[in-house]
Amino acid sequence: MKSTMMNYPLVLGSILKRAYNVHPEKEVVSKMNDESIHRYTYGEYFKRTLQLMSALKRNGVNSFDRIATFALNHYRHLELYFAIPCIQGILHTLNIRLFPEQLEFIVNHAEDKFIFIDKSLTKAIAPLVNQFKSVEKFIIIDDKENIEPANLPNAIDYEEFLAMGDYKEGWDLLHSLKIDENDPAGMCYTSGTTGNPKGVLYSHRTIFLHSMGICLADALCLSENETVLPVVPMFHANAWGIPFACVMTGAKLVFPGKHLLGHPLAELLEQEKVTIAAGVPTVWNVLYQQLKKKQYNLKLHTMVVGGSAAPRSMIENYEKEFGINILHAWGMTETSPLGTVSRLRSYMKDWDEEKQYTMRVKQGFAVPGIEIRAIDENGNDIPRDGKSVGELIVRGAWVTGSYYNMDIKESFTEDGWFRTGDVVTIDEYNFMQITDRKKDLIKTRGEWISSVEMENIVMGLPFVMEAAVVGRPDKLKEEAPVIFCVPKEGESIDKKAIIEELKKHFAHWQIPHIDDIHIIDSIPKTSVGKFDKKVLRNKIKEIYKE
Ligand code: ADP
Repeated sequence: MKSTMMNYPLVLGSILKRAYNVHPEKEVVSKMNDESIHRYTYGEYFKRTLQLMSALKRNGVNSFDRIATFALNHYRHLELYFAIPCIQGILHTLNIRLFPEQLEFIVNHAEDKFIFIDKSLTKAIAPLVNQFKSVEKFIIIDDKENIEPANLPNAIDYEEFLAMGDYKEGWDLLHSLKIDENDPAGMCYTSGTTGNPKGVLYSHRTIFLHSMGICLADALCLSENETVLPVVPMFHANAWGIPFACVMTGAKLVFPGKHLLGHPLAELLEQEKVTIAAGVPTVWNVLYQQLKKKQYNLKLHTMVVGGSAAPRSMIENYEKEFGINILHAWGMTETSPLGTVSRLRSYMKDWDEEKQYTMRVKQGFAVPGIEIRAIDENGNDIPRDGKSVGELIVRGAWVTGSYYNMDIKESFTEDGWFRTGDVVTIDEYNFMQITDRKKDLIKTRGEWISSVEMENIVMGLPFVMEAAVVGRPDKLKEEAPVIFCVPKEGESIDKKAIIEELKKHFAHWQIPHIDDIHIIDSIPKTSVGKFDKKVLRNKIKEIYKE
């Protein structure tokens, strides 16, 4: 028997059209590189995006062609986010901070046809263009950086390219193209924190469902009422899907361009009355220092933090000093990315403060559409007791079932769940907590130490700005933890105090030796702003040569 319901395709075109029909007056604001502000409405956005669809078609973009972007967060990037999939092309967001070899690998593996690139980023691509096998054209976006773009073959300015298109033709394309909801719409490669980049192809359907999923009140609670600023780059897991969800809901969008730190970011949050911002912990760490230095009149009520663990001290400090709620979330490129969020349940609101923070530092529970489990080496579910650890596996409406043109069987269980490589506990309330990535666990005397837990404790000390923990080989213990830490401005690191604090939380044989605490100027970061433990392990090899 069949249901009586319409088979309405979940495609991006319908989200785009809604922006025009329902909230054409709402704003999209971008801070350009020269600090000027570009401001227009979703109505104007819609028209340019349709014109861009036509321009792409007239320039020979066919179904399923991969069209890459190499750009920061701004309105033209948002135009590309919809124009490319709405003519059945595939939006491929390239991570601008990757090493050249990785970039070359990704562009050739994806066989990108065009690259839309910010003027200020052309220098980074120029030395590689001869290695790109499939790229036919570069379209240069004037981000208002005061420099000349590097010389790229077959380059054209974005506005000239757009002028080749016709709005009416775009309108016809939007209404006539028969796009299946399962057609690919977007593509991201993992940032290679733990190995070679791997490609994920999102479909119209998965982006549509993910957009609805993140808007849920129990998820990120995005709505037309909010003004949203994604610090998380549009080249990193689609800025966590926020641009798609904002076009869907009509939330005012504020793009920070290159102004991601300190005063320029705080000023933008203030001027545009941003209510929700999203980014990795390092960004909020720097902003916190700025907010301590200078008073801003902020409307910000929520900061979505993911990508790495949000330390308890950060959650507590923002809450107590600025009344800002840090919403801790977990996700991966492979999960579109939102998988879990840590929101206190109604009955937890009566718990004592200490217990509430214990829940809020966890990565939280699966959002509707996602299922999570944790398994041991034999594939059995670990007890949901908040203590036993296992590998997190997930499945759901927006989780990848394979990688693009790569057969990586070990990433999936036999019955098709995705293996995340994250080591976690799950408690009786179904709150998940990451203890580590499999590769980052430290094994001391046959037992695992969670580097994340140790880092969070050290970062909770008032004189520590950032801390990262990695293992070094040890003859007796197998591995021993080594701490790299950065002092806060004007402070110095008290190694003894670190040891004393750790003693409260770890067994004595897990505590690092005082000589294994190293003070450095900054923790090396990956292309998406996470602590780069590969670099730290190499540092360890140098330090402990003999
Ligand atoms: P990469 O795998 O290259 O780091 P992703 O952005 O896909 O790129 O990273 C996903 C990983 O980031 C997760 O597997 C997890 O290890 C980590 N992660 C994401 N969110 C959190 C979080 N809230 N707390 C701790 N780790 C997180």
